[in-house]
Amino acid sequence: MTSIATREVPATSKIVLITGGGRGIGAACARQAALRGYSICLSYREDAAAAQGLARELTATGVRAIAVQADVAVEADVLRLFETTDRKLGRLDALVNNAGIVAPSRRVDQFTFDRLVQMFHTNVIGSFLCAREAVLRMSTRHGGPGGVIVNLSSAAARLGSSGQYVDYAASKAAIDTMTMGLAREVAAEGIRVNAVRPGLIHTEIHASGGEPGRVERLQDQVPMKRGGTADEVANAVMWLLSDASSYTTGSVLDVTGGR
Ligand code: NDP
Repeated sequence: MTSIATREVPATSKIVLITGGGRGIGAACARQAALRGYSICLSYREDAAAAQGLARELTATGVRAIAVQADVAVEADVLRLFETTDRKLGRLDALVNNAGIVAPSRRVDQFTFDRLVQMFHTNVIGSFLCAREAVLRMSTRHGGPGGVIVNLSSAAARLGSSGQYVDYAASKAAIDTMTMGLAREVAAEGIRVNAVRPGLIHTEIHASGGEPGRVERLQDQVPMKRGGTADEVANAVMWLLSDASSYTTGSVLDVTGGR
């Protein structure tokens, strides 16, 4: 039995890659990972200032942190991202598959081909490519010592997002299914795979979908009557990354204020 004295959160020397780690939920995860002692690779697509600035901020706290430009929707970028992490930080212990996009609110009968390609390339194919590279490094089948993957899904996967972005919701449902299937595929190879399903969270993603006030507009529909913070999501991600969740795999954890 664990004694009270040994139940503090232990510092770790593990290495985590957080895609889309320069802003929003990814940045909150990076800050919390730094507090726990992780070495951190943040990837970003275009906001170099945010990601490089955060890497400097984390480095100043005494942990190792790098920021790498890489579009998760481009296979060559993903390969370069993981190779850079190997070279600069060492062998990966954990992946947070966080990078994701929404798109402006439209009905399905208004979707363009290009919108659908971008949505699924980024949210689904990008997450699969990163998961593949992580498994190749972590799985005991490939000579690795195991590891952890946490995927960012969304409550949209359950709700469908009618009239807004059914494509986004469907891309996140794919993440739920990937989580379940991959978890079982690699469970005996030392890798746990789980997902967090945030609800309405205060980040810039809503502005990128054309509605900066979306959380305020919809928060009355949340049983807790408020939006969540990126830190509240990061808390769940940190638990799933940690050994405190050592018997949890294939799970999808709602962080939605009850929505
Ligand atoms: P933000 O828009 O605040 O940040 C998104 C991050 O992802 C940025 O760092 C961005 O990079 C990066 N990114 C986007 N596209 C790519 C790409 N193609 N390649 C690499 N990086 C990319 O989003 P949130 O923090 O709000 O969302 C994070 C995750 O949580 C997403 O998967 C989202 O779907 C999910 N989520 C968010 C909810 C919310 O209410 N906020 C609710 C449910 C789920 P850059 O900085 O360079 O632009």
